[in-house]
Amino acid sequence: MSAGTGTPQDVAEQAARRRTFAVISHPDAGKSTLTEALALHAAAIEVAGAVHGKAGRGGVRSDWMEMERARGISITSSVLRFEFDGALLNLLDTPGHADFSEDTYRVLAAVDAAIMLLDSAKGLEAQTLKLFDVCRHRRVPVITFVNKWDRPGREPLELLDEIEQRIGLRPAPLTWPVGTAGDFRGLIDRADRSYTRFRRTPGGATRAIAERVPADRAAAEEGDAWRNAVEELALLDEIGATLDPDDYAAGICTPVLFGAALPNFGVSALLETVCRLAPSPSARVDADGRERPVTAPFSGQVFKVQAGMDRAHRDRLAFIRICSGRFERGMSLVHAPTGRPLATKYAQTVFGRDRSTLDTAYPGDVIGLPNATGLTVGDTLYARTPVTFPPIPAFAPEHFMVARVTDNGRAKQFRRGIDQLDSEGVVQVLRSDLRGDQAPVLAAVGPLQFDVFAARMADEFNAPVTLNRLDYSTARITDKESADTLNGRRGVEVLTRSLDGALVAVFVDKWRLRAVEREHPGVTLTPMLAAG
Ligand code: GDP
Repeated sequence: MSAGTGTPQDVAEQAARRRTFAVISHPDAGKSTLTEALALHAAAIEVAGAVHGKAGRGGVRSDWMEMERARGISITSSVLRFEFDGALLNLLDTPGHADFSEDTYRVLAAVDAAIMLLDSAKGLEAQTLKLFDVCRHRRVPVITFVNKWDRPGREPLELLDEIEQRIGLRPAPLTWPVGTAGDFRGLIDRADRSYTRFRRTPGGATRAIAERVPADRAAAEEGDAWRNAVEELALLDEIGATLDPDDYAAGICTPVLFGAALPNFGVSALLETVCRLAPSPSARVDADGRERPVTAPFSGQVFKVQAGMDRAHRDRLAFIRICSGRFERGMSLVHAPTGRPLATKYAQTVFGRDRSTLDTAYPGDVIGLPNATGLTVGDTLYARTPVTFPPIPAFAPEHFMVARVTDNGRAKQFRRGIDQLDSEGVVQVLRSDLRGDQAPVLAAVGPLQFDVFAARMADEFNAPVTLNRLDYSTARITDKESADTLNGRRGVEVLTRSLDGALVAVFVDKWRLRAVEREHPGVTLTPMLAAG
């Protein structure tokens, strides 16, 4: 990492160079493939596959958990960092499985921009819509990449229409495909009308061969495909589907690019767009509504805590997004919730599964602090001038289980494991005096979270658990006064969330919830962020 001077000017310049972003998509749309292709284009890794190492392409494969392998999903997140065109990109990977949307949400709290990845044959799918809602909620601007254009899919104009109709974003194509999906020839850059023709490389594991072809030659060689594309472009110009960077930043408009991640078609145009349009880190609003500029002394927020990421590093790593100032390894930070000092001697950068020591970092960067016990998702860290950022809201859980230790001799390990997995946000832990410490309620957005919980309790904490389903399906945040009214009603229970002490009212179903709302119009029942 570059050594800087740490002056406000240095910090401002370094921040301006950074783009911190994530890719949101439905499982199987091609997120892992795109991540590899982006990094490949930026020459961060030598051969696509080295980051996630999808089966059959070699590379470093995550092995922190059998389950991950068995299910073929990526549960852990990593951060990819690469340089392109003078910019420094931090790509925060998000777990793709629907049940991990809560994790994904937290990652979206740490980025300044997102790429919405669509499968050309499927358009906007359930998970994409859900994640887009999170982006909207957090005002994260979105660039759209329509993937798998090398395969049969839908018409480009139809896809644009779907974006506009279903999520209300005005699409502004920056590139336009020549050849329908499945017969992909190349891309026209709408800004200068230049045409890039693509040819596959075997297996797609290296850069696609791209060739600039002048318009007259393209017209002769591509025939109808060219004429159609030119007609569609004229139509786009007519309806004014052009990009206004301010509208993009304001979340009104989304630049759209077409391509195919697997054979590396159109990926460099996407990368250029991220560098050109995605906002660099800027002032962040604190819990009191004041802005903390990037040039203020160091501040950052924990957005993820993860243990057991792989067998070689069996530690607990807190991921911190830097919001302001320069980070220097060894500097002493303050943990805002407790006021306790925190040493940073062992700060790391997290590149895929590899870790290396990190000496300096700037706003937009992500640092990993190993063995940082006591750090919880949402916590603020700062140097010199105090600040607290607003907490990262949790998704509304829809599945509930009671956890008990299977072997009573392991009560201590059980407690430790629950606390740890709670602070990581693997599940939400809810308690009540009535249920006692030995039988906490676990709440999750998706049932797979319970499997992760149970597997890790057994493997890492040596405390196998028994889980029993509870008949609740809906949760609201309430307050002390309302809790007194709610407790004791049929089909309702009020529990305390361990992490922040919030009172959570759980209901068997939404009819019960509505009935309670009708009977007691005075009670406070605040919806949590909906996951579905
Ligand atoms: P993820 O679940 O979103 O991470 O998706 P993956 O990157 O694992 O991709 C899912 C499947 O789609 C894999 O079999 C990929 O090889 C395939 N895939 C991804 N991108 C493309 C593409 O551009 N073209 C084609 N034909 N297949 C793709």
